[in-house]
Amino acid sequence: MVGAEQLDGGAIAARARFGDDNAVIRLVDCANAGETDFERHVGNIADQISSEESDNAPFHKWLVKPRLPPLCSPSMLKAGIVGLPNVGKSTLFNALTRSRKAEAANYPFCTIDPNIGVVIVPDDRLAILAKIAKTAVLVPAAIEFVDIAGLVKGASQGEGLGNQFLSNIREVDAIVHVVRCFEDPDVIHTVGSVDPVRDIEIVTTELVLADLDAVTKRIDKTQKKAKSGDKEAIAELALLEKLTPHLNSNQPANTLPATDDEKALLKFFQLLTAKPVLYACNVAETDLATAEQNPFVQKVAAFVKVHHDAAYVPISAKIESELIDLSPEDAKAFLKDLGVDDSGVSSLIRGTYALLGLMTYFTAGEKEARAWTIKKGFKAPQAAGVIHTDFEKGFIKAEVVSYADLVRLGSIAAAREAGKYRLEGKDYVFQDGDVALFRFNN
Ligand code: GDP
Repeated sequence: MVGAEQLDGGAIAARARFGDDNAVIRLVDCANAGETDFERHVGNIADQISSEESDNAPFHKWLVKPRLPPLCSPSMLKAGIVGLPNVGKSTLFNALTRSRKAEAANYPFCTIDPNIGVVIVPDDRLAILAKIAKTAVLVPAAIEFVDIAGLVKGASQGEGLGNQFLSNIREVDAIVHVVRCFEDPDVIHTVGSVDPVRDIEIVTTELVLADLDAVTKRIDKTQKKAKSGDKEAIAELALLEKLTPHLNSNQPANTLPATDDEKALLKFFQLLTAKPVLYACNVAETDLATAEQNPFVQKVAAFVKVHHDAAYVPISAKIESELIDLSPEDAKAFLKDLGVDDSGVSSLIRGTYALLGLMTYFTAGEKEARAWTIKKGFKAPQAAGVIHTDFEKGFIKAEVVSYADLVRLGSIAAAREAGKYRLEGKDYVFQDGDVALFRFNN
């Protein structure tokens, strides 16, 4: 059965059903498609589906490649939300993707799975730049969050959703680990009592066990090659043998003392515990204003710093979920009553963005003020390439002013006059907050 629906902005989604599986196909280049185009596209998909149905092939085969660069790239980095049951993961995910998606109209095509949501990265600088550029259109940066269900003790042995859970984690670039720091007799704790450090250890153990299994298999494979004198295999084996006792003592791979070469090699192993982690301490609504004094949060803070070399953020998933249906004014008043400015979720999103090694530069003109996401260390042509590959290929120069200089001086003209509007070449490393305009050859 094939059905179709028109999404916001004229995009089209088509659905096909294979047995019990519901597959969704999106045409990312159909914004503003007319009625006829819409029907033609859906018809094409229907044909493709029925011709392949007998193979029962996975639905991603039918993803239609965009003709135009999509607003969000398929390589958008993802953070996975993990944690034991009943710690508030789904509450957080739903709140994140509903309340923080309201402004995400420019990213209508990025989610394909109900467990994946696009979340806008809050950045106060964008509205200020929009004012300077005299535009009313703001396009913020976004990242994807994935709600990863299924972790229970024994997941590495197949308990709960076991393997599916582990493979979902393998696909994300960073992990947001939610730990329960709220007491509520009505919400059952699956392990009996509120003890976030014990919970962290349970989750870590499952991930470490899965990694140990992967490392053991890799050692078996590498040994033969190493024996034959293959230099790369010898280096790999040495690292695997260094990792084994580390993992065996229940320590995550990302805390292994390693040289730069070893760190580079470690990435190839795709270990679950090598991913960067941010701990989200889910506190009771009434505790958010004083979260740093909450003994559960304090325990998590001390533990994760020493054992995981990781940061933590206090949040209230419940507060965030209660903001969903409020107007911005009511939301502000509600937060004020609780003695806070935010549910902690803005810090969580920004922290995750940083954890993914990302930063923002801006373009600001009459058409729009826009935040572009790049990896730290990107040089000017790579930064330009995020807008369009032609910008990278034909890169000549980047006109750049820092956000701070532009705001202080009030306009591009004033920044130019003050000598703060620079012309940068291909070796320039972009800085967070740079406001740029690219010169390129077509
Ligand atoms: P998950 O299993 O980790 O996805 O947890 P859920 O998000 O489904 O939450 C489990 C239960 O805890 C739900 O009934 C939530 O309403 C409740 N819950 C989540 N966060 C909080 C919180 O901060 N305080 C309280 N009292 N309950 C919460």
